[in-house]
Amino acid sequence: MSEATTNRSAVITGGTRGIGLAVAQRLARDGFDLLLTYRGDEEAARAAQAELAGSGVRVEILQADVATAEGAASTIETALERFGRLDVVVNNAGITRDTLIMRMSEEDWDDVLTTNLKGVFLIAKAAVRPMLRQRSGRIINITSVVGLVGNAGQANYAAAKAGLVGLTKSLAKEVGSRGITVNAVAPGFIATRMTDGLPDEIKEGLLKQTPLGRFGTAEDVAGAVAFLASPDASFVTGHVLTVDGGLFMP
Ligand code: NDP
Repeated sequence: MSEATTNRSAVITGGTRGIGLAVAQRLARDGFDLLLTYRGDEEAARAAQAELAGSGVRVEILQADVATAEGAASTIETALERFGRLDVVVNNAGITRDTLIMRMSEEDWDDVLTTNLKGVFLIAKAAVRPMLRQRSGRIINITSVVGLVGNAGQANYAAAKAGLVGLTKSLAKEVGSRGITVNAVAPGFIATRMTDGLPDEIKEGLLKQTPLGRFGTAEDVAGAVAFLASPDASFVTGHVLTVDGGLFMP
């Protein structure tokens, strides 16, 4: 049963650690009730919920695989059931299976495309209906600079993230007349569990090419997401906001 809430509400897929958790912390500060989803790491999810417990907003966690239609539908249904409305969806869940194409298995390709691209389609499809009824909503997709410039060893990931740019712009055109904006944030190198395993020489090379001279933090990305979720961004749609310290300039 839905409970009335005066807060705006946000769903963050993969919101329980890394960039997603930083987005959750920031949107909690901005007054959003939150539904954070995860795929398997329940311990991280419970820790995230505990960490946000004193933030003055409602924070729910849900195990749901965005790569399946059932998982995507249950994510949006749960948010509506708990909060009675859906204002912001942050499509953040993502995985990597890095290797050169000549060694990449079909499974490596399919897993990454299914989670990182199809998962966003499934969530967006489920979210758009209630947003159309409300005549408002913000969909924010976390892509990557790798989707804009490519990266050796990440053909599957780059293809999914590039696909996300096309999806973002197309959906922005479909739903703009109903007051819904659709944007993407493209982080560069951000220190999280996803990037922990990169070899030191690759990290050093990236750092040398970054005009701002440091790696990004999850909070840097969260700031960009918070802007796109805010009233200040009400006339911004179909945009890809790069957050990479100037690493890749088109
Ligand atoms: P992490 O690996 O730290 O966190 C990923 C999150 O996504 C976890 O909460 C994980 O859940 C969840 N997740 C993964 N697969 C699924 C699924 N099928 N269904 C639901 N949830 C899932 O990643 P980051 O924080 O580093 O990355 C977040 C996003 O930012 C990703 O889309 C990534 O591609 C993008 N990005 C990251 C960059 C970086 O440098 N770190 C750079 C550019 C983009 P669980 O904990 O249960 O596994």
